[in-house]
Amino acid sequence: MANVAFIGMGIMGKPMAINLHKAGHKVFVNGRRPESMTDPVAAGCIACKSPAEAAAQAEIVVVMVSDTPDVEQVIFGEGGIIQGAKAGSVVVDMSTISPTATKAIAEKLRAQGVEMLDAPVSGGDIGAINATLSIMVGGKPAVFERVKPVFEAMGKNIVLVGDNGAGQVAKACNQIVVAVTIEAVAEALLFARKNGVDPAKVRDALMGGFAGSRILEVHGKRMLDNEYKPGFKTKLHQKDMNIVMQTARELGLSLPGAALVMQHLNALMGTGDAELDSAAVMKVVERASGMER
Ligand code: NAP
Repeated sequence: MANVAFIGMGIMGKPMAINLHKAGHKVFVNGRRPESMTDPVAAGCIACKSPAEAAAQAEIVVVMVSDTPDVEQVIFGEGGIIQGAKAGSVVVDMSTISPTATKAIAEKLRAQGVEMLDAPVSGGDIGAINATLSIMVGGKPAVFERVKPVFEAMGKNIVLVGDNGAGQVAKACNQIVVAVTIEAVAEALLFARKNGVDPAKVRDALMGGFAGSRILEVHGKRMLDNEYKPGFKTKLHQKDMNIVMQTARELGLSLPGAALVMQHLNALMGTGDAELDSAAVMKVVERASGMER
């Protein structure tokens, strides 16, 4: 069992830190707002005043914050991980951020004697609570083996995809498939409705065939119910598609499907729907054809 520091006490970070404690690890937590540490501390985790203080106690330092600049800040900023991290320790970034920035962060850490893995997740808050997350890892095989028991306390499908950045590339691939499938499901269910055919029956009919998917099942249900409680917030999906589009731009890569859904997520941000589940792409598709409910 390891001493683990955990930075970022949001929807995902809190239950993940609690699961690490339940598995028998000694967990030192830090959240930007002290009150965000209440539940993990009640569960047995130890509160720390800064990422540096938490990192100083641990050989593995997990980060679960929002976006690329946030990861850079908690690692290299004032009171950041690097100010406390022991030589030979490992920073494990489980946030969804830019693959390009990830490689630069890994190099900068390595120059200071600290290893890094990028290990973004899929499975949502339910997966975080139930310790059934899919974890997509980038980094050195030996470092992956060292951290594996920590991953196993938080997830089920744990894959070393490649070197640093490869985990974030896999997560971006995941978000492309999810986004474009949400768009396809929205268009199909709207097509059924405009034809006067019950979209719920169409969803039932499609579920057993090649068009069946978790997105048709879960997001399709939200669309049928016109109920978009998250789930995965539009603002986070927009952040992830921004990572996809920026990387595509850097590489000179054409991704027209992803670009289209990005515009629909932008439209939802503009109509004040940032906090809705991203299945609300249906609302944009409906508006374009005068089919609002
Ligand atoms: P969240 O609830 O918004 O939590 C983010 C946490 O990071 C908050 O506690 C926030 O602190 C902290 N934070 C953000 N910027 C910071 C900074 N600069 N310095 C210190 N702390 C900072 O988000 P989440 O849903 O847990 O998501 C975390 C990451 O997991 C994101 O990259 C997201 O894309 C990814 N993810 C989420 C899901 C999901 O279903 N929610 C699924 C897969 C992956 P405050 O509390 O003070 O704001």
